[in-house]
Amino acid sequence: MDLNKQGDFFGDYENRDSALNVNDGVKQPPIINPYLNIKKKPAIKSVDEYMDGILSGDRVVLSQAITLVESTLPSHRAVAGQIIQRCQKISSGKRTMRIGITGVPGVGKSTFIEAFGSHITSRGHNLAVLAIDPSSEKTKGSILGDKTRMETLVNDPHAFIRPSPSEGSLGGVARKTRETILLCEAAGYDVIFIETVGVGQSETAVHSMSDFFLLLMLSGAGDDLQGIKRGIMEMSDLIAITKADGANIDRANMARALYANALHLFPPTESGWVPTAVTSSAVDKTGLDDILAKIEEYFKLVWDNGYYDRHRREQSRYWMYESINETLKNMFYENPRIESLMPDYEKAVLDGQLESFSAAEELIDKYLGKI
Ligand code: GDP
Repeated sequence: MDLNKQGDFFGDYENRDSALNVNDGVKQPPIINPYLNIKKKPAIKSVDEYMDGILSGDRVVLSQAITLVESTLPSHRAVAGQIIQRCQKISSGKRTMRIGITGVPGVGKSTFIEAFGSHITSRGHNLAVLAIDPSSEKTKGSILGDKTRMETLVNDPHAFIRPSPSEGSLGGVARKTRETILLCEAAGYDVIFIETVGVGQSETAVHSMSDFFLLLMLSGAGDDLQGIKRGIMEMSDLIAITKADGANIDRANMARALYANALHLFPPTESGWVPTAVTSSAVDKTGLDDILAKIEEYFKLVWDNGYYDRHRREQSRYWMYESINETLKNMFYENPRIESLMPDYEKAVLDGQLESFSAAEELIDKYLGKI
């Protein structure tokens, strides 16, 4: 319609979609989707049933148990809590390898995990691939969501892939992933990959639940260009320069030397391990052996020198505090009184009528029933 033409706009307006006309409403679809195949929600199994399934390597039951771990329903959480406890007991003393893997999008992480994961299972390991992706709620699982990217691993009977739990806060996502690790280990997965997109805070969370931290880097782009913070390099046990194939081999080797040098400048690690850099190609399947050799070397060192156990215990302590923080925070924000007061307080702070610290203090006092 040409809005400049008066006739068009005003002429016979009664027949037009004008606010002055009563139009037929949009035809409403039936309230219940006739195509919907209503299935009864499967009832929650007993803790024993979940445990039997998990211990016998039943992946369906393992997945169902993880779904409970990820659930926010109190009834699910109660069962999940018992499963987690039992799994933790079963796994304690087992020597598993928790490997955090990060790198910016496009570095070739999915392709690498597919190639390296298959390499690992071909060596007799059982591999679980988990992810921490706090953006997954918005993007509906940007990493691992699209399982077709890992076709071989998805069909590998020795691999179990689970996308990131989707929940708003990083703390919540991370806690669930950490609990999922315990379930997978009880189910017999001795190598756990915890993947994250290397662009934010989630590396620290992944680092705090893994024994070994692998950073994937591109050649030809400075770490500043890759958005990799110094802190992330500093916590890496191994840097792998990806896509070292074809015309890229020389550049990859140069980058490897550069990063190996950079790693030397960092203070010695607590584990006694000397981080280093290697090259790899997921397409040519080169460098995968080197990476596995480095990882095995690392674990031999830390199993022997006691760092592995000490570090795991420290991580447990860290997660105790994280859990307390997360639970307290949720209790506060989910409290009905606080929920109803919050908009007014927020408005008062935004309007400059109330100072932020006083607002916080008052709200907390109200939560505690002091006022
Ligand atoms: P992600 O976003 O980090 O998960 O990266 P992808 O695994 O999706 O890979 C990004 C792009 O890099 C894709 O086009 C891959 O085909 C390509 N790629 C991944 N690994 C390699 C490799 O080892 N060599 C080459 N030449 N290309 C690769």
